[in-house]
Amino acid sequence: MSAPTDEQPWQWPESTWRPIVEHVRAGRSLTPQAWPDDASVAVAISFDSDHETPALRDSAVTPGVLSGGQYGARVALPRIRKLLARQRVPASFFVPAVSALLYPEQIDAAVEDGHEIGVHGWIHERNTLLERADERDLTLRSLDTLEKLSGRRPVGIRTPSWDFSPNTLDIIRELGFLYDSSLMADDDPYELVAAGEPTGIVELPVEWIRDDAPYFGMARFAGIRPYTAPSAVLEIWKREFDGARADRGVFQLTMHPSIIGHRSRLWILDELLTYIRESGDVWFATHEQLATYVAGKDNS
Ligand SMILES: [Zn+2]
Repeated sequence: MSAPTDEQPWQWPESTWRPIVEHVRAGRSLTPQAWPDDASVAVAISFDSDHETPALRDSAVTPGVLSGGQYGARVALPRIRKLLARQRVPASFFVPAVSALLYPEQIDAAVEDGHEIGVHGWIHERNTLLERADERDLTLRSLDTLEKLSGRRPVGIRTPSWDFSPNTLDIIRELGFLYDSSLMADDDPYELVAAGEPTGIVELPVEWIRDDAPYFGMARFAGIRPYTAPSAVLEIWKREFDGARADRGVFQLTMHPSIIGHRSRLWILDELLTYIRESGDVWFATHEQLATYVAGKDNS
C-alpha cells in the first residue's frame, strides 16, 4: 500500500486515504486478565545491538564513526550483561545480522545468559526505501543467519529504526513470526490487523519515550545532541512503569548498548530495575515469553 504519486494528499478521495490507514491497524487488546504468578505488571527489557550497522547503512564508513559502534559491542555489552545477571532480569536482544556476524560471541553470550535473540534487519536497512522482494530477502537472510549463530530460529522481529513498511506485515506473516515490536498504537500488547482481517501476529508496542536514543543521540555533523540528563530519563521511565503497573499492563523498554552503556548512564538502568523489583509483584519476561503468554489468552 503506497500513496499515489500523481495526486496531492488533499486531493485524495476517501477510497484512497481509507485503505492506506487501514492497511495495518491495531486490533483487539491482548492484555490478559492476569499475569503469571499474579503479578500486577509485565516488564520486558530490550536492547537493539546495532553497533556499526547504522553507520554502514548510511555509508558512514570512517574509522571515527565506526569506533563508536565498536564501543557498543566491546565495552557496553559486557557491562550490560553483568548488570542483567546481577539483577536477574531476562532481556531481548534485537541484532542486525551484520552485527551478529561481526560479533558472534555476543550471540553466544546472550544465549548462555538466557536472553532472547530477535531479528533487527540485515544491516539496519530502511525498509520503506526497499522493494518488497529486497525487504523479504533481507529479513529471511537475517532469520537464517541468527538461527545459525544462536542455534534457534528467532520468533520476533523489530524493524530497524522501527521503519515498518507497507510490506512488512505480509512478509513477517509469510515467514512465520510470532510477534513484531516496532509499532505504537497502544501502551500494551495487541493483535495486528491487515485491511480489517486479524492476523494472529502479536504486537508488543514501543515508544520513543521508552527509548534511550532520542534523549542521548549524538551525531557530529547533524543537529543531533543529547538533551536530557540521565536522572531526568530515569524519572520518565519510572513514571512509565508506574502507569503500566496501575493499568496492570506492560512496561516495555528499548535501549542500545552504545548509547545506554556509558559510565554516566548505565546506572539509571540499574536504579530502574531495582525500583521495579522493589515494587513487588512484577513479571520480568523476554519479549518472546510475553508474546507467547498474551497470544495464548482469549481476551475477546
Ligand atoms: Zn536499531
